[in-house]
Amino acid sequence: MYILDDEGKDLLATVKEFCEKEVKEQCKEYDVSGEWPKDINDKASEMGLNALEVPEEYGGLGLNKTTIAALYEEMSKADAGLFTTMSAANLAMKPLLIAGREDQIQRAATLLLEGGYGAFCLTEPMAGSDASNNKTTAVKDGDDYIINGRKCFITNGGIADFYIVTAMTDKEKGVKGMSAFLVEKGTPGLSAGNEENKMGIRTSNTTDVVFEDMRVPASALIGEEGTGFVTCMETLDITRALMGIGATGIMQRCVDEAVAYSKQRITFGQPIGKFQAIQFMLADMEIKTETARQMSLHAMQLQEMGLPYSKESAIAKCYSGDMAVQVALDAIQILGGYGYSREYPVEKLLRDAKIFQLYEGTNQIQRMVISRSIMGKF
Ligand SMILES: Cc1cc2nc3c(=O)[nH]c(=O)nc-3n(C[C@H](O)[C@H](O)[C@H](O)COP(=O)(O)OP(=O)(O)OC[C@H]3O[C@@H](n4cnc5c(N)ncnc54)[C@H](O)[C@@H]3O)c2cc1C
Repeated sequence: MYILDDEGKDLLATVKEFCEKEVKEQCKEYDVSGEWPKDINDKASEMGLNALEVPEEYGGLGLNKTTIAALYEEMSKADAGLFTTMSAANLAMKPLLIAGREDQIQRAATLLLEGGYGAFCLTEPMAGSDASNNKTTAVKDGDDYIINGRKCFITNGGIADFYIVTAMTDKEKGVKGMSAFLVEKGTPGLSAGNEENKMGIRTSNTTDVVFEDMRVPASALIGEEGTGFVTCMETLDITRALMGIGATGIMQRCVDEAVAYSKQRITFGQPIGKFQAIQFMLADMEIKTETARQMSLHAMQLQEMGLPYSKESAIAKCYSGDMAVQVALDAIQILGGYGYSREYPVEKLLRDAKIFQLYEGTNQIQRMVISRSIMGKF
């Protein structure tokens, strides 16, 4: 559980009601079609859920991390695609908060506060885990840069109002030649590819993002030339903890669905929840869920207090992602054959859970971060 103040409790109650009445059931049909549910997302944005992490000085709500975590978990519990859309919008603000100018931060904040979305464009066909291998180029031309290249698997790629784009300003310098830019929707040369037909989080929008002779002013540069890679790595260090919260939302839903089912499904003359084998499975699911929640929240609170958090964020994301898949499998097991049917909600939870082992750095990459942090250089 989360220890919330009165404002947090009120907000959580509002979001819970919205998710129960307007997201949970409605997203089932969008999960089948794979369509991004604009109306549901726009309603969520009207409630400010697309701008939860905009700091108060830029017009945001100035929420503490505990409240932010509780609200995101509630969204993920209802639909992890909604969580993905909203958290990716906030992810795109982070590089600006780390290295951007005041006017850039304010611009992105305003777009979010007006109900818009952001997209974080780092991954390319040959640069996923090895993000340093970006091939997109940004060539100086007078007071402008000309950007050419292709990003893939970009959340909100087809719906964003602003894009954070990494590109090589000096290929010879390797990662120190990567820069980041703030680009707005409608910039000539910017386009989105087809939507990915995904296994899970099918209610989120994932596309290629393409740059063809896209001209941006030098003022689009975020920070100094050559700092883009470090800014993006710092960004992901922060947001990984939140991915742990997204995974926790799925786990909590699995526990809720499995508990409810185990109380009403009768075998051998009694509810299956009376069998200790089922009770212990539920207990183990709950242990994993609460541990994931607390580890993720802990990493977010370290950030809030200005303490080191890189290892803890990686642990939170890795543990929660791995456990979400296991807990979803357990939920299917408890529902038996019905768990395997699309008529019941838990098979979607397994498909949704899998992404948490993949995006924002695979869990192998998290293990690299963790082992480096405990082993150092030797
Ligand atoms: C739905 C979805 C949404 C996404 N959203 C975004 C987004 O908004 N913005 C964005 O920039 N990216 C996004 N991504 C991209 C995501 O971050 C990458 O897919 C991920 O980082 C892995 O990269 P890859 O797919 O190229 O896999 P690869 O890097 O090709 O990895 C393949 C496998 O090899 C393993 N591996 C690679 N290197 C090592 C190593 N050194 N040691 C051990 N194992 C290794 C990986 O863990 C993985 O299992 C998204 C992806 C998906 C699927």
